[in-house]
Amino acid sequence: MTQQSPAPSITPPVPQPESDFYWEKCKEHEFWLRHCKECDQTYFYPRDICPGCFSRNTEWIKTNGRAVVHTFCIVHRAPVPSFRDKVPYVPAIVEFEGGARMATNLVEVEADPSVIKCGMEVEVVFEDLDEKISLPQFRPIS
Ligand SMILES: [Zn+2]
Repeated sequence: MTQQSPAPSITPPVPQPESDFYWEKCKEHEFWLRHCKECDQTYFYPRDICPGCFSRNTEWIKTNGRAVVHTFCIVHRAPVPSFRDKVPYVPAIVEFEGGARMATNLVEVEADPSVIKCGMEVEVVFEDLDEKISLPQFRPIS
C-alpha cells in the first residue's frame, strides 16, 4: 500500500490588464462578455479587438449567465497531480447568445455521458477561489 501526499493546489488564473474588468465582475458574481458593435457578435476571451472582424468598436455587456453546452468530455485520470482530487470532472465548451464560446467546467452534474447532452442549457455559478478570483463555472438549469 502506498501513501499519497495531498494534491498540490491549483494555481488560480492571473488577471491581465484587458481582463481586469472581467475578473472584477466575476468577483461580484456577474458574468460579462465583450461585444462587437460592428459585426454584432459576442466573444471570449476579453480583449479590445474583435476576433471576427478586427474592429475596435467593442464594448462590455452584462449577460444573464446562461449558455448551452457546445461540447464536453469527462476526465477520469488527472492530467497533473493538482487535479487528482477533482476527478471525475467535466471540462466543457459552452456557447452564449451572440456566439461567444468559453472553456469551463460543468459542475453540480453527474459525470455521466448519459446525463450531459450537447445543447443542454446551463447557467453560471461562481467558485470563490481567493480574494481576487471567483471562477465562473456552469451547471445545468433544472
Ligand atoms: Zn466584429
